[in-house]
Amino acid sequence: MYVQNIVSQTPPRTRAPAALARTCEGVGGGSLGIYTDNSAIVVPQGFQPLREKFKLLHNVRKILPAERVSKCFYNRVSKEEGVEVFLNRLRNKANYGNLMRCANPWACPVCASIISEGRKNEVKQAMDWWKQQGGSVLMLTLTAPHYSSTDINSLKPAMLKARKHMLKGVRATKDLFKHYAIEHYISVFEVTYGENGFHPHFHILLFTRYHISNPRESVMRLQLYEQWVNACAKAGIDEPSYKHGLDLQDGSYADKYVSKWGLEHEITKGHIKKGKKDSKTPFDLLRDYAETGNEQSAKLFRVYYYAFKGTRQLNWSQGLKKLSRTNEQTDQELVDQTDNVAELMFRLDIELWHPIRKAGKQGELLQLVQDDHTLRRAMVFVQQCLLDEGRRRQDVNT
Ligand SMILES: [Zn+2]
Repeated sequence: MYVQNIVSQTPPRTRAPAALARTCEGVGGGSLGIYTDNSAIVVPQGFQPLREKFKLLHNVRKILPAERVSKCFYNRVSKEEGVEVFLNRLRNKANYGNLMRCANPWACPVCASIISEGRKNEVKQAMDWWKQQGGSVLMLTLTAPHYSSTDINSLKPAMLKARKHMLKGVRATKDLFKHYAIEHYISVFEVTYGENGFHPHFHILLFTRYHISNPRESVMRLQLYEQWVNACAKAGIDEPSYKHGLDLQDGSYADKYVSKWGLEHEITKGHIKKGKKDSKTPFDLLRDYAETGNEQSAKLFRVYYYAFKGTRQLNWSQGLKKLSRTNEQTDQELVDQTDNVAELMFRLDIELWHPIRKAGKQGELLQLVQDDHTLRRAMVFVQQCLLDEGRRRQDVNT
């Protein structure tokens, strides 16, 4: 059968050690043709993060067609080779090889999830190092007033300016940090969207030698607030209120905050923070567009993307990485990391890959490889995508 000739035979090349390498069932014998059952693919019920992330990426492609993200997990790195599908059996994790990855933490739900996971480990390592020495980590949150009419393209650089004043520029802050033995920090830049427009904010992990009980009610919070008000004034931002402009929380919040990284790309915010329905993450906007076709959400995602593109999400204070022996990898290094014990299960030539990517079903295929290691279901699925694409083309031509 036509299909049989396109799927590569089990390749001799594998990333697995020889002992782990095995012949790929369902493909090695060119057995795709056996599975001529074209009935609907039964997908297990329940939430499937893989499918969700790739579905969102499929929609980013529609919103930002000219950006590099639109080629992510879509175009091949080497046009001479097919798309590879690997499986790590121990972790039951399937992944692609020979596909371009954009490494864009702001726009790509698939890359952002991998990057967050990597950053989470780096930040945890630094926090653990600090705690082992008897220190504690507080979480400082800085926000500024904004309205539905505020232009994010002006507010965002002003916020960065204010943070610079707050953390680096002012003698008073330096004295304050010294007073509270704050020796390091990690600052994270985030943005959500609510009824008052875009809400850029910083979560700053403060590494202090002291253990401060109930920091929310502390004098320290008041002193930090005074500095933040000054920093905002210097950056031309309206005065933040004491209630909303600054929060200071203890270590348990810092731990909880970091442990949730990566989840926002997979689960709607409603699952994480109940009762905050008016506050959406950019990926919530994307999800809204994917599910309802809401053009306004697509427009907001575009505005957000161009405002934040190229901005650093994380900033570490000088010396912290070296002291905590944290080797920071670049975003591209994180997404390009290969799994050394994953086996190459099969390879798809462009004729078979195209219908899958065109339909945005890259996540479904990986999920099926994970669900059924015999690859029977994956092969039926590949064939189904090809048939669907053929039908679609026929419809277009008639
Ligand atoms: Zn990407």
